Amino acid sequence: MKMIKELARETEVLAEVDVLVVGSGPSGLAAAIGAAREGADTLILERYGCFGGVITQVGVEGFAWYRHKETIEAGGLVPEFENKFKDIAGANPECQSESQALDAEMFKYVADEMILENNIKPLLHCTAVDVIIEDNIIKGIITESKSGRLVILAKRVIDCTGDADIAALAGAPYLKATKNELMSVTTMFHCKNVDIDRFNDYVKNDLKPTYKDWGGYWSIETTGKEDDLFSPYFEKPFVEGAEEGIVPKEEDVCLGGTWSSVTPEGEVTQLNVVFISNIDCTDVKDLTKAEIAGRRNALYSVEILRNKVPGFENAKLRNFGMTLGTRESRKIEGHYSLTKYDVMNQQKFEDSIAIFPEFIDGVGYLIKPTTGRYYQIPYRCILPQKIDNLLVAGRSISGDKIAHVSFRNMACCVATGQAAGIAAAVSIKEGTTTANTDVKKIQESLINQGIRIF
Ligand SMILES: Cc1cc2nc3c(=O)[nH]c(=O)nc-3n(C[C@H](O)[C@H](O)[C@H](O)COP(=O)(O)OP(=O)(O)OC[C@H]3O[C@@H](n4cnc5c(N)ncnc54)[C@H](O)[C@@H]3O)c2cc1C
Repeated sequence: MKMIKELARETEVLAEVDVLVVGSGPSGLAAAIGAAREGADTLILERYGCFGGVITQVGVEGFAWYRHKETIEAGGLVPEFENKFKDIAGANPECQSESQALDAEMFKYVADEMILENNIKPLLHCTAVDVIIEDNIIKGIITESKSGRLVILAKRVIDCTGDADIAALAGAPYLKATKNELMSVTTMFHCKNVDIDRFNDYVKNDLKPTYKDWGGYWSIETTGKEDDLFSPYFEKPFVEGAEEGIVPKEEDVCLGGTWSSVTPEGEVTQLNVVFISNIDCTDVKDLTKAEIAGRRNALYSVEILRNKVPGFENAKLRNFGMTLGTRESRKIEGHYSLTKYDVMNQQKFEDSIAIFPEFIDGVGYLIKPTTGRYYQIPYRCILPQKIDNLLVAGRSISGDKIAHVSFRNMACCVATGQAAGIAAAVSIKEGTTTANTDVKKIQESLINQGIRIF
């Protein structure tokens, strides 16, 4: 590999804060709000031009698509986001749950408002590219943007990048599956100009989709209680469309999947039907390849829908997600790694900082929380090894493959994010490092912010 030596340089300090949150998906937004409400001077940094992560950048609107009447949840910022959203922006019923699908475009505005209302310093269009470490303690990060290279110093840093970028740059240990084992990536898209009466009739009378239909492409293990529940899943039209040559044979993708909501304006949203495997989303060449293949195959999918699905005859693409949706990359090796057993057996931990319903969706499992079962997440899962004053929240916390397909869900990312924000602020108040903070103090503050942790 050809290498070039860069020159050493002096870099301007842009800001010095108590808590720096890197990344603004569900976990980052929650971390920043959690820290700010605990009294910390907080800055949130985001590489793209809008806050919201996968919600706004990929177009994933099913914030709580797991929710049923009996589901037990943490409370905290999840219902707050949903209520705020309803007040400001309206929302559409999410068709398989007791929840609303949050409009991805309006979420950009809702996120802006929540950041400003909580006196958080916003910074968009700015990517974290390096870290400042002294004696295994993180002191800040180096950023790149249109303003060049700038430093942000912070007493605590929370990595909410989804890919554990900061932890990896800092030298904290992490795990990443091999490329062919990583979950596939998806170009999400939304359609407009759908005859929703015809489509709804087709779904109700012909398709009649349930969770057991997910067993076509993927072998799915359920507990049985999910099998006959309604699920917005279609696969057959895509299989037929591919067989009839709408998709060229050389395309190496899996088409077929779900939608989220059907709006009165004739839109069918969050078409999650393009699955591309063998992509490492920390590799820029793979990302480029998948973006191009994803858009191409989203258009093949629109063509299939127009040809095969009643109501879609005159449908058009409304928009692609502005970036590829990636599900899995690095996960830190924390002081504890959450397991499949923990998630499936309502595991309890003395240092719990969040609860999440027993909801597993991916890598061959589909278990919905219809019975009130839930598990706890220990503080040790968001605490990386080796580097202090750094916390990690969201989909890259410490856990095995099955635990990951539960805690990667947005509402769980909110829960671990809010906990990380509060923990960072509490550790500053207590004058301890994040590794040495008395978890009881963190738990007290979590409870004071209205969060259920046991
Ligand atoms: C196609 C798809 C469909 C999904 N469907 C659902 C669903 O229906 N319901 C559900 O609950 N979950 C769903 N998920 C999973 C869920 O959306 C994610 O796991 C979740 O959003 C992860 O949240 P996060 O905060 O950890 O990271 P993300 O939402 O990925 O946010 C990370 C943020 O960090 C920013 N960032 C990254 N690196 C840097 C850097 N170096 N510097 C600055 N900023 C950076 C990114 O731009 C982004 O804004 C889906 C995921 C995908 C990809």
